Amino acid sequence: MVAMMVDVIRYEGLVMLKSKTPKWPASSNTYILPSDGEALIVDPGCGHEERAKLIESVLKKEGVKRSTVVLTHAHPDHMGAAGLMEENVLVHEIEVEYARNPRLLSDPFNVDLVRKILNIDFDLMEYFMGLCPIYPVDASQLPEKIKFGDYVIKPILTPGHSPGHVALYIKREKLLFSGDLLGEIMAWYSPGGGGVECYMESLSKLEGLNVDKVFPSHGDVTSIERVEEERRVLEERKRKILNAIEVGVKSREELGRALFGEKWSSFTNLLILESHLVKLRKDGKL
Ligand SMILES: [Zn+2]
Ligand SMILES: [Zn+2]
Repeated sequence: MVAMMVDVIRYEGLVMLKSKTPKWPASSNTYILPSDGEALIVDPGCGHEERAKLIESVLKKEGVKRSTVVLTHAHPDHMGAAGLMEENVLVHEIEVEYARNPRLLSDPFNVDLVRKILNIDFDLMEYFMGLCPIYPVDASQLPEKIKFGDYVIKPILTPGHSPGHVALYIKREKLLFSGDLLGEIMAWYSPGGGGVECYMESLSKLEGLNVDKVFPSHGDVTSIERVEEERRVLEERKRKILNAIEVGVKSREELGRALFGEKWSSFTNLLILESHLVKLRKDGKL
């Protein structure tokens, strides 16, 4: 079953477990970086037993004796399987509390707001557990630099999608693990994750890096040029909302429809819209 859902691909010194689809609730891609009998595991994926077993079997094959899990952020499709493994887990200090108690993800997911707008009862953990399980993990704070084997890896704080999201940069190899920030599917963003303003700033941070290859958490390997495309999407959304307001559109539903059509009320689309509204209010444009 696993063989059907994941491709195991080798890029020089790196093993990529690439999910067949970049779409939720599929696991994020997982990257295993072995060096001198040690390994870093970036984003182990959803908390399914088969996933954890697959990772352990790759580690064994690579002759890895000791490994550490690094999370780009504490979402279930990235960290779930960490709860089924023995390894130490590192995540940005802002996300440590979410890793230790995933129920708290309700805050950055703005669950209360979505409940209010749609007038529905919604339990985030129940939703996760049915699709992509997540378990509490005794995570520690990422250091400023991770040094192991031949590598020096720099976590770069890149909020917007999630408040303590990091991209992982290996300067010497010109590699970037972009997490959810750059990839085949553009990440959603929420006021609780930092919103559109932080997302923009995060894109700018990445743009300045000297990078040959971008390894995203979802979809195919990409390049740093992806920053431009995502920035265009953000600008386009802003323009659509402003145009709608200009012709007299006022309600959240109508603005949502102007932006996303019939899909305006999906969980993530609501959060994207709300992020833009927060920013436009802040800029005095609403
Ligand atoms: Zn995520
Ligand atoms: Zn993700």
